[in-house]
Amino acid sequence: MPQASTLALVLSSSALNEQDKLVTLLTDGSGLLRAVAPGAAKIKNRFGSLLELFTEGEFHYYRREDRELATLAKGEIRKSFFPVVSAAENVFYFYLLAEIVLKTMQPEHRDTRMYNLLKAVLAGREQGLAMDWLLLYFLTWLLRGEGLLFNPRRCSNCGGGDLERAWLRSDYRGLLCSRCRTGERLQLDREELAYIHWTARHAPAEAGEWTGRFAPAELIRILTGKVEYHGEFTLQSRRYLPQFR
Ligand SMILES: [Zn+2]
Repeated sequence: MPQASTLALVLSSSALNEQDKLVTLLTDGSGLLRAVAPGAAKIKNRFGSLLELFTEGEFHYYRREDRELATLAKGEIRKSFFPVVSAAENVFYFYLLAEIVLKTMQPEHRDTRMYNLLKAVLAGREQGLAMDWLLLYFLTWLLRGEGLLFNPRRCSNCGGGDLERAWLRSDYRGLLCSRCRTGERLQLDREELAYIHWTARHAPAEAGEWTGRFAPAELIRILTGKVEYHGEFTLQSRRYLPQFR
């Protein structure tokens, strides 16, 4: 009998040796779970399509206290997002989303926010929302959830509001108004600032209700840069996205 089970999303799956795979799961309330899936690297195996990227499943596993890796015994698919995730126009966005979660999630993470955020992005794409806007929404909420998002309505130096445009401090910690800026390069305009404020009160399913107009690529680059700056890493999979070419 497996000793535990959890609802989880598959974030990565790679061959560990000729027989087995190493998988990383995002559980719905207890952070990341790294596990060996015995026999999963063989063509015929008991896991089938359970271990595809972002498949949601109920996973049953064993864990010995002296081992970091759990062992997957079996699992059942709760929901497959394979058609959406594997589509050529989406797949690199989902690689990036998985890489961001794998690199930013703290070991002691124990809440459901990230899980729910990813589920919302997956559901949004199933409903036909634009992938770049979903990525932008994800980045905004990732930073907000970590307490790293700047206030889009105030200059972090003088406290002035009603910003027509703002410049991001070179350490990414706060915005500066036109009077307080010195040599900062990264600039956000009124629409981009309004969008960040708007996301705080709207779920991604409501993305179609955003009435502003701007091309999201620049803000995606800025927020991805902020994630990399605070995490002190480079996201390898972003190079495949049109926004970074
Ligand atoms: Zn100012």
